[in-house]
Amino acid sequence: MKITKDTVVTMRVKVADRLGRLLENNKEPSAYLHGGYGNALPRIEQALEGQEPGHAVTLDLGPDEAFGPRDESLAIQIPKAQFPPGVKVGGVLELAGPDGHPRPFRVVKIKGPVVLLDGNHELAGQSLRFSLQVVDVRAASPEEIAHGHAHGAHGHHH
Ligand code: ZN
Repeated sequence: MKITKDTVVTMRVKVADRLGRLLENNKEPSAYLHGGYGNALPRIEQALEGQEPGHAVTLDLGPDEAFGPRDESLAIQIPKAQFPPGVKVGGVLELAGPDGHPRPFRVVKIKGPVVLLDGNHELAGQSLRFSLQVVDVRAASPEEIAHGHAHGAHGHHH
């Protein structure tokens, strides 16, 4: 089956930086609902449109095509006293962002009495090389189309 709108694509994904250092290499394949639902980067959907299982492609994406530029206003500090116990470096906290909506902030560093947090996507501001291999393509169920995401073993869990 070919990848077209409203198919569920299962693929293996490797992400490297511009120097070829591997940043993500998920052993488990991941599945997404294809067709502009915002589940995959637009350049990835473009590259996979019309392809079939077995297809492999490597894409070099600039920060604007990947996870956007870094927003330094999302790099914040809070007093350690305000920090919930049990959260460690590398953990994630939900805090109000600049727009007042809660968003995830990564704990970057604990430096004496302050905690440094970063609300940027971990890969924001980076040029990235995606290596994709299509493992499976199937028609999406009406429920998946209504939800706007893939279900099943490698998809969204409710
Ligand atoms: Zn769902």
